[in-house]
Amino acid sequence: MRTERPFKSDHAVTREPHRLLEISHVEKIFPGDVVALRDMSLQVNQGDFISLLGPSGCGKSTVLRLIAGLLGSDSGSITWQGGQRDGDLGMVFQAPTLMPWARVIDNVFLPLRLRGESFRHHKQELMHTLELVGLEQFASAYPRELSGGMKMRVSIARALITRPRLILMDEPFASLDEITRLKMNSELLSLQEQIGCTVVFVTHSVSEAIFLSNRVIVMAARPGRVIRELTIDLQRPRTIELATTPEFSIYTQQVLEALQLSMASES
Ligand code: ADP
Ligand code: MG
Repeated sequence: MRTERPFKSDHAVTREPHRLLEISHVEKIFPGDVVALRDMSLQVNQGDFISLLGPSGCGKSTVLRLIAGLLGSDSGSITWQGGQRDGDLGMVFQAPTLMPWARVIDNVFLPLRLRGESFRHHKQELMHTLELVGLEQFASAYPRELSGGMKMRVSIARALITRPRLILMDEPFASLDEITRLKMNSELLSLQEQIGCTVVFVTHSVSEAIFLSNRVIVMAARPGRVIRELTIDLQRPRTIELATTPEFSIYTQQVLEALQLSMASES
């Protein structure tokens, strides 16, 4: 039976979310007066899957680089609840950036190796992480022996090896074919469910953003800013069939409208 409020589960529990990270009024200006971000604020809660969506140049990657501390902001602040600990952050980029000469397991070990940890000590954990991404059989394979989707799984395993509280993903599936991308989307959600991490995800794909996220942040360029935040209250676990439901179409329409607004606001 249809309810009047198709997006609200009757069983929804309202409880205060635990804050993980607070981005507050951040501004980033690059040389040449490029305002990559203006007055960007975003609260990231534990367990969130947040997608940043918007046209090229609206500052999506800049947000991730600021969160990762790869860039400093010109004003505003980024604050971790309870402070940031070593290994709290994992990053996954569009290109898997694997070391071609190293086996899969050694690629995944890299963040620990950089911390001076011993391989032997972490062997079990490495195998467990490979299992999480379905690559336990490929621990000794080299990147050249893997498909694009498998390489991306290695990259995800490498991001997970320090058991980060937050994973930043910058268009990780953009270069994969559609079928592989759909598969990776489902896998990513079940992975998130299993390990309970928080994800901030950048994508160009409206359907990918809706499918994965509980919050979609639509951004506009020149200056880079947030123009709309949508809460995606679709049931979990999310299955591919969900994409054919009327609720999904309504969200798609809402996001597309926000994107149109975003394009129209470009000067
Ligand atoms: P998006 O990821 O949404 O495509 P970016 O965050 O990469 O956008 O870039 C936002 C804006 O900042 C763009 O206009 C881009 O050209 C500019 N920009 C990004 N990085 C630099 C940089 N290192 N130097 C100068 N300009 C930059
Ligand atoms: Mg980018």
